[in-house]
Amino acid sequence: MKSRLKILNIWVDPFNRQEFVSRVRAYLESGSRPHSIFAANPEKNFSVPKDPLLYEIFRDADLLLPDGIGMVLAARILYGANLTRVPGSGFIQDICKLAERQRHGVFIYGAREEVNKAAVEILKKRYPELIIAGRANGYVRDEGMPELISRINESQARILFLALGSPKQEKWFATHKDSLKNVRVCQAIGGTLDTIAGNVKRAPNIWQTCYAEWLYRLIVEPHRIRRQKVLPLFAAMVLLSKFQSILRIQKKRRIPPKRTKTK
Ligand code: UDP
Repeated sequence: MKSRLKILNIWVDPFNRQEFVSRVRAYLESGSRPHSIFAANPEKNFSVPKDPLLYEIFRDADLLLPDGIGMVLAARILYGANLTRVPGSGFIQDICKLAERQRHGVFIYGAREEVNKAAVEILKKRYPELIIAGRANGYVRDEGMPELISRINESQARILFLALGSPKQEKWFATHKDSLKNVRVCQAIGGTLDTIAGNVKRAPNIWQTCYAEWLYRLIVEPHRIRRQKVLPLFAAMVLLSKFQSILRIQKKRRIPPKRTKTK
């Protein structure tokens, strides 16, 4: 089995899209608890270690997707691993296709009411056989949480999409996972419902093919500069880490092996 890669302060699973889908299928077929799917990206390399609880939540995640070219390149530089990008916004589509084929219900929780509603309508059109067992906007107050959990449980949904933004969605999962009776797979999808509803456009294919989706989003949503300014620092830290590991290997080679005394 391929083991999880540590990329500086975060981890990523070295699977391709098909292998991630196979995992999800196995969780749905034989899992007995909710399994978490989170996206790993350079921003989280900086935010996750600042919060010990979040660090634990990510460390214990069932699947960590290489959600962007940053993680793919870092895995290549640090481990020679040949990963492909699996963006969370694309992976939700794979899960919907699987759910549609295998008749698993999905519950969609998160985003503003009109965005949630519009995204659900679009998903229904895209996947006509998909069972949307329930939906709720992402602005449920704490006192409304027990009712929401009951609705998710009563809906019999096996898949829960959490669209509350990070780290709210990951913390929500950690807090409530033990109360989820039927959910077997829970993917944290951030702002994906806004993209599906057409509020935020995904980069056109050409930008995605050139691995420049991050640049497109920055142009369309300039306020993301605050988050994306960590990218050059992430790249520098990856290169530094590689350089240090090369130095360590060379140093080891230079130390002559100990001679064993012959009697
Ligand atoms: N959101 C929510 N409840 C909250 C805060 C945010 O449902 O209490 C939603 C918000 O409406 C948006 C998404 O979470 O749809 C956050 O999107 P963003 O792109 O910031 O998340 P990211 O993908 O970067 O984690």
